[in-house]
Amino acid sequence: MVGEIRLGYTVCPFCGAGCGFHLVVRDGRVIGAERIYDHPVSAGVLCPKGAYAWKIINHPDRLTAPLKRTERGFRPITWREAIREIAEAMRRIAKDDPDRAYFLASAKCTNEENFLLQKIARTIIGTNNIDHCARLCHSPTVAALARSLGSAAMTNPINDVANAKTLFIIGYNPAETHPAIFRFIEDARRRYASVPARKIAIARFGLGLGETEFKMIVADPRKTMTAVQADIHLQQKPGTDAVLINAMIKTIIDQGLVDKEFIEKRTTGYERLVESLKDFDLDEASRITEVPRKLIEEAAIIYAMNKPSTIYYGMGITQHRNGTALVQALVDMALITGNIGKPGAGICPARGQANVQGACDMAALPDFYPGYRKITSENARELSHMWGLPVPVEEGLFSTEMWNVALTGGIDLLYIMGENPLISEPGYYRIMRALKRIDLVVVQDIFLTETARHADIVLPAGLWAEKTGTMTNTERRVQLFEKIVDPPGEARPDLDILLALLKELGSPFSYDGPEQVFEDIRRTIPTYRGITYERLRKKRYGIQWPCPNENHPGTPILHTERFPTSDGKARIIPVRPEVTVKTTNEYPFILINGRLITHYNTGTMTRRIMELLLKDDSSLLYISPDDARSLGILDGDIVELETPYGRERITVKITTEVPRGVLFVPNHFIDPPVNTFVGDIIDPVSGIPEYKGIPARINLI
Ligand code: SF4
Repeated sequence: MVGEIRLGYTVCPFCGAGCGFHLVVRDGRVIGAERIYDHPVSAGVLCPKGAYAWKIINHPDRLTAPLKRTERGFRPITWREAIREIAEAMRRIAKDDPDRAYFLASAKCTNEENFLLQKIARTIIGTNNIDHCARLCHSPTVAALARSLGSAAMTNPINDVANAKTLFIIGYNPAETHPAIFRFIEDARRRYASVPARKIAIARFGLGLGETEFKMIVADPRKTMTAVQADIHLQQKPGTDAVLINAMIKTIIDQGLVDKEFIEKRTTGYERLVESLKDFDLDEASRITEVPRKLIEEAAIIYAMNKPSTIYYGMGITQHRNGTALVQALVDMALITGNIGKPGAGICPARGQANVQGACDMAALPDFYPGYRKITSENARELSHMWGLPVPVEEGLFSTEMWNVALTGGIDLLYIMGENPLISEPGYYRIMRALKRIDLVVVQDIFLTETARHADIVLPAGLWAEKTGTMTNTERRVQLFEKIVDPPGEARPDLDILLALLKELGSPFSYDGPEQVFEDIRRTIPTYRGITYERLRKKRYGIQWPCPNENHPGTPILHTERFPTSDGKARIIPVRPEVTVKTTNEYPFILINGRLITHYNTGTMTRRIMELLLKDDSSLLYISPDDARSLGILDGDIVELETPYGRERITVKITTEVPRGVLFVPNHFIDPPVNTFVGDIIDPVSGIPEYKGIPARINLI
């Protein structure tokens, strides 16, 4: 007899678009996924990752009992044993030297879980040593937007792309990384294409915008699935983005296309920007970036004139040693043209993981308290007063800095909730050595990840369909999802594990579940104050922060009247047009990496979905036909890829997607893991590693 079938609303656990869909459940077991047609992001469509996400729920590899490392491998232990041992180590470290503990939170976990983990680190242990994978993807966004605009988030909602006339996409390939967002872009293109031609003659510059209003400009060294659909593709050399953006800004200033009124009323620092570009040479910029000057000028003029214009950017901008500066340069371009705070005009960092925005908002970060309060004694006093417990006032370490400290024996406890740093943090072998130096490594996850294999204690966690909580997508949409099925075996939702730890630690505070934690979030973070579980249950597809009170509908567009800075104005800050990577005789190529449509981050989940593996199942080295020919290598050959940081064998894929001199490796696989080729160079402001633009060579074997 066929059992009862029910649907449970949920949010996709993968990218930051935050698509909503239904899980189909029969007899307590998830058997499929159903699209939701009126969801504001997914709107009846799911990309391959979302469509097959349900397959990991019943996967036989799921962890079902706590494990402890012994000399003969892992052995199952009881929850009581595991929690006691961890709490004992935490108590000891809290007493002796709290900064010898480190916590890695997770953009795959809920706001409630991230909030609680940072609160444990700060109040029970007494350290700001907490971070998560935003350090590796959008920490420059947090640093630059918070400093310049007063708020570290995407300014406009995803569907607002429909209001833009120009879309400038740089270092971002939404067709693969965020298919849900790309669909809105495609819709905008189609709609405008059907509008009768409205000539926007720019006689002054001898340019016409053609038959349609909507223009898509894409800047990317690769001919990505997004770039091939652009009206203008600026194919800059990797590592020259600061030169390219400055060249666009210089063009806008020289051609008199700035928005003087907006600059005057709403910004500070414009004169310094003009001064900094006084001697900037556009011909030289063209030579350095390898983009024709005319094309740079055309793109800049369209962006400044065919308004409103929106900027979308991704990790092609942030993952550089000057990532914060690059984000700042984009903000400067938006500010001088008045392209912010209006429908169709904004700056949009597309966040890569389901809850990376929320994990940042909750301050799973070593340099902010919740709600982006800087770590100062004044803010520490305010927070201590609110929580009734002291909080530390020294900034913690970025995760990317912590590994070097661990390598010298400076970390005794590493608590990892839902992250796989052995594959994601820079330097595979370096991270492995660091893990071995740490006395107690605890990993709380759904599978025995590559990192978990090196842990001392492994705690089996529940995944998103097995818990209740909220996540905040890239457009600041806070969505509630509730438990649909039970976790397998003895696995528990991450929040339950943290609550058990709290109890064992004899914490003076506790919660009876996720809703009560959310109440603490509302109390602590002003932008979440008006959002309640009750409201989210009624307004199923979420509320966008800031939402200051319970009658407030949420805020789709930020900065419409003023910026949340001390004087209400945004800061224009000049950026040095530096080049961050150069080829040499020894390393004649530049290596970049990125995502595929079929996989997600370190592949912990998507590498376990057969339908996705059938499409892409291993690391490949993308090389241009010209380079392959001159090296005498063929598609499918195995070569050795070498950078100053590591070398590994890898299979060749010859493709016109990459230009001559550029190599590309997807970052989801372990044969070899792409972080083998990455060093420990970081952006000094945000701590992000330089993942993009690494000198490389190919050794024939
Ligand atoms: Fe939507 Fe992203 Fe999930 Fe795909 S991976 S279904 S685009 S949230």
